[in-house]
Amino acid sequence: MSRVYNFSAGPSMLPLSVLKTAQAELLEYKGTGQSVMEMSHRSKEYEEIIETAEADLREIMNIPDNYDVFFTQGGGYTQFASVPLNLMNKNNKADYIITGQWAKKAFEEACKYGDARAAASSADKTFSYIPKTTREDFRKDADYVYICLNNTIYGTKYNTLPDTGDIPLVADISSCMLSEPLDVSKFGLLFGGAQKNVAPAGVVMVIARKDLLGNAMDITPTMLNYKIQADAKSLFNTPPCYNIYMAGLVFKWIKEQGGVEAVYKNNLKKANLLYDFLDNSKMFKGTVVKEDRSLMNVPFVTDSEELNKKFIAESQANGLVNLKGHRTVGGMRASIYNAMPYEGVEALVNFMEKFEKENG
Ligand SMILES: *Cc1c(COP(=O)(O)O)cnc(C)c1O
Repeated sequence: MSRVYNFSAGPSMLPLSVLKTAQAELLEYKGTGQSVMEMSHRSKEYEEIIETAEADLREIMNIPDNYDVFFTQGGGYTQFASVPLNLMNKNNKADYIITGQWAKKAFEEACKYGDARAAASSADKTFSYIPKTTREDFRKDADYVYICLNNTIYGTKYNTLPDTGDIPLVADISSCMLSEPLDVSKFGLLFGGAQKNVAPAGVVMVIARKDLLGNAMDITPTMLNYKIQADAKSLFNTPPCYNIYMAGLVFKWIKEQGGVEAVYKNNLKKANLLYDFLDNSKMFKGTVVKEDRSLMNVPFVTDSEELNKKFIAESQANGLVNLKGHRTVGGMRASIYNAMPYEGVEALVNFMEKFEKENG
């Protein structure tokens, strides 16, 4: 077996030990004579899997009891519609901070359902920073303020949350979920697609303050109604059973690491290694202002398109794969999610050093 270091923005690496457990349990799950893939979602065995997954997620994220937690489908993108359908329910107004493609897409989707407004944006500098806001930037009667907490494409993240006063804050945490401690009580709602830090693509986790649910617009499709999904404990219809099982294994893996705090320490170590190299390199440079750098997605460039191409090809040949940057930024991007081992980042930095010597 020869596994590469996969720096893909998503779907991305899963912890090896999780894959091994899934492999060992693939044909027969714990003496049941069947695979989790074949199991009724109403069975006793599956009930335990999904309930444990939710309980473990609550534990590792320290989610307060006044929040509903459920697993749903449709990727992060479906949430761009679900959020306004469920939460733009008092004044039909919401304010969005545009920090990249994902926030922009969420904003555009919300415009279909009500009065969504872009309160701030960092589009002027290719989203290389997080715009500063104050309470005055938001409409007092907005039903919520929306942010994307970690911007997968541009490599920025919020280190300080916007002050929205009494207005509930909604955040897309698809690409930073469980990467560092997060105070859930500061948010009205959080959602995250699985394929970056949690599980194979196909499941989304929603964490919502209970008092905000139950007033969805009449046109809300039943499947997108948060209250219905939450009350049914993720079992309104057949859930993405196997993906939830995989998410559960990852939550257990996080507990084994020592929890989110321990995972965060490792993420800091990994990111610092790469950023320190970038800050001292003459050939490579990061594209994001220092104070807003993501721990998960690290875009970088050389000043030559030709060198970028050469680097991507040669790194790929050396078992460091998917380092090509997003088309709107160019250059390279290393996504170093929870499952990327420190050794993977070390291998990348060593390779960059060598490349710089040979081509500098
Ligand atoms: C990947 C990603 C999405 C989109 O997820 P899909 O599952 O492809 O719909 C949304 N938001 C962020 C921040 C992402 O990184």
